[in-house]
Amino acid sequence: MSKAAHSKAGESRSTKASEATKPLAAELSDADRLPALEIVRGEVAACTRCHELAETRTQTVFGVGNPQARLCFLGEAPGADEDRQGEPFVGRAGQLLTKIIEACTLRREDVYILNVLKCRPPGNRNPLPDEAANCRGFLDRQLAIIRPEYICCLGAVAAQNLLASEQSIGKMRGRLHDYRGIKVLCTYHPAYLLRNPEAKKDVWQDMQFLMREMGIELRK
Ligand code: URA
Repeated sequence: MSKAAHSKAGESRSTKASEATKPLAAELSDADRLPALEIVRGEVAACTRCHELAETRTQTVFGVGNPQARLCFLGEAPGADEDRQGEPFVGRAGQLLTKIIEACTLRREDVYILNVLKCRPPGNRNPLPDEAANCRGFLDRQLAIIRPEYICCLGAVAAQNLLASEQSIGKMRGRLHDYRGIKVLCTYHPAYLLRNPEAKKDVWQDMQFLMREMGIELRK
């Protein structure tokens, strides 16, 4: 198993611009990915670094899907439904994400779904910078283990955190970014689409672009 799978979350607590271009660790064999993820899952479950989140969460929400996925979807943080069920994107926004994935001719089991934060912020407030920094090592280790070719950032919190950017999601859409050798597409969060259905066509445009890049043919 590679060093990245075992390194402590705190080793990469913040991503400086200079670090963002460094490649993630050497590739694991397929058989090593699930056990490596389980090690990180255990550390996440025991984490109390963010005292408020550790005290208010029902459980941590690690991630779900295929440890060998070519594509990861990155959200912001668990909401009430995810906190209750222990799985990311299972509430109303999650159901819409599932529809988006299926419209791309994929299944939830084909991709990997994870969040910037592994604990629910009380009242669904945005993650605080310190909380995102505390959790960053876990996210980077998940990505180092899975080594997806593509990440789809859902919403500004995911995009700005991953890419250490302050640009609006509107400005980040429509092109591929790079995160340590992984191609990154940014699009609107499904919760935003629930409030602004007129933006669904923009997300579909983004997904069509991503599927073209990935060589995945969409239904006519
Ligand atoms: N919103 C997110 O960003 N992540 C989830 O897991 C659920 C809703």
